[in-house]
Amino acid sequence: MRLIVPDSIQSIVPYPPGKPQDELEREYGVKNSIKLASNENPWGPSPKAIAAVSKALANLHRYPDGASYYLTQALAAHHGLDASEIVLGNGSNEMIEFLVKAFITEGLEAICSHPSFLMYQKFTQMRGGRCVVLPLADMRHNLEAILAAITSDTRLIFIDNPNNPSGSALAPSALYAFLAKVPEQVVVALDEAYIDFASPESHLDVYSLIRNTKNRCVAVFLRTFSKAYGLPGLRVGYGLMPKEVAACLHKVRQPFNINSLAQAGALAALDDQVYFQDIVARNRRGRQFLADRLNRLGCDCLPSETNFIFFDIHADADRLYQAMLYKGVIIRSMRAYGHPSCLRVTVGTEEENSRFLAAIEECLREIRA
Ligand code: PMP
Repeated sequence: MRLIVPDSIQSIVPYPPGKPQDELEREYGVKNSIKLASNENPWGPSPKAIAAVSKALANLHRYPDGASYYLTQALAAHHGLDASEIVLGNGSNEMIEFLVKAFITEGLEAICSHPSFLMYQKFTQMRGGRCVVLPLADMRHNLEAILAAITSDTRLIFIDNPNNPSGSALAPSALYAFLAKVPEQVVVALDEAYIDFASPESHLDVYSLIRNTKNRCVAVFLRTFSKAYGLPGLRVGYGLMPKEVAACLHKVRQPFNINSLAQAGALAALDDQVYFQDIVARNRRGRQFLADRLNRLGCDCLPSETNFIFFDIHADADRLYQAMLYKGVIIRSMRAYGHPSCLRVTVGTEEENSRFLAAIEECLREIRA
């Protein structure tokens, strides 16, 4: 075999997949483990979404609606926008890919922060673009440094707000001031995967940023059904953006990128706002409970506007991660993100949170002994 792989592809480290839970259980000899590592909604989606997906099974022999007409219309009504200002993706992951495909070619630049979502860098590399990666400052996006890094080759800036893994959100006033200074030809992607869990004061005015584009940079908002709506298995994300930008993204989109089950499930989930609000409220209570208890155990938690908490144990995070695995509790060590004494835990159900707290109390005692 003689493969000729471009350097831009050869240099990519694939996104690290998590081990299936069954495999971990076998490896660590545990049963009934709980996974608080992937920022999933532990209560699942609205029962109406599950019913809609079951109903849609009858039509699997048909191609999906390539325009996702009903879901797009419903999202437009939900956000007070026009359908021409919305693009759907196979998860918000695919929205990131669309932006890179549409705006980056060899030699052009994207800017993002570290730690944040890894796919910004990987998609940019795939296109032969350059990704300028700037460290968070005090666990927040360093907006000044991002502005200073912009060159005539910059086409995209990715800001996950709230940020994963810190859980912090930027003050809207800071973001408005930042957006006013970004040059007109740059597209700023505000990845709001976790915004549904944030307090109302952290929300930007999406409508005015999308509609008022005169003499200013373009803002694109990325949203997902994977978090608060509890449908990561279906893979539905979307972007809210000026219609000229949406028209560009449709050029790089596969015709049937949102499968029929995903369209049906997301539409029903969006329609069930009572369930959605209940999830947001449960998450808020669970997050507060976990943060209080972790603080009492001598850990320092960053304030979170998401469904996860970043916390410092002031000891070896990898050791704690391993010890927790033996107790059947899967969380995430932040060593690989450059924070060797920190971990990230997703808010679980009340029962899961209690199991997590009982396990971590014991493990911390062992580690600190
Ligand atoms: N953005 C951020 C900040 C994320 O953490 C994730 C996944 N956890 C995504 C985007 C992608 O989510 P999805 O593709 O499931 O919508």
